[in-house]
Amino acid sequence: MKYYVIDRGCKLCDACYWACPAKAIRIVDDVRAEIIQDQCRHCGVCYDSCANEAISIYDDAAAAQAAIVRFAQSRPS
Ligand code: SF4
Ligand code: SF4
Repeated sequence: MKYYVIDRGCKLCDACYWACPAKAIRIVDDVRAEIIQDQCRHCGVCYDSCANEAISIYDDAAAAQAAIVRFAQSRPS
């Protein structure tokens, strides 16, 4: 199974938000989009919809979770 993570320069264009068939993407603090992993169906529609290459694909849940943490820690608080 592939895991999708928004872990790069999200421009908050909302394309993935509207494209996701599972409503598994939320907008956080009006500055970035985030995939709700528990709701994600792993379909890849968000990846295809992002023109900014802000979504990465990981092969397993642990790698995806590590990427989420890395990205969170890299952002200014
Ligand atoms: S992989 Fe599919 S279900 Fe998961 S967030 Fe992306 S569009 Fe939504
Ligand atoms: S489509 Fe890409 S740039 Fe647009 S909100 Fe989603 S992750 Fe961010």
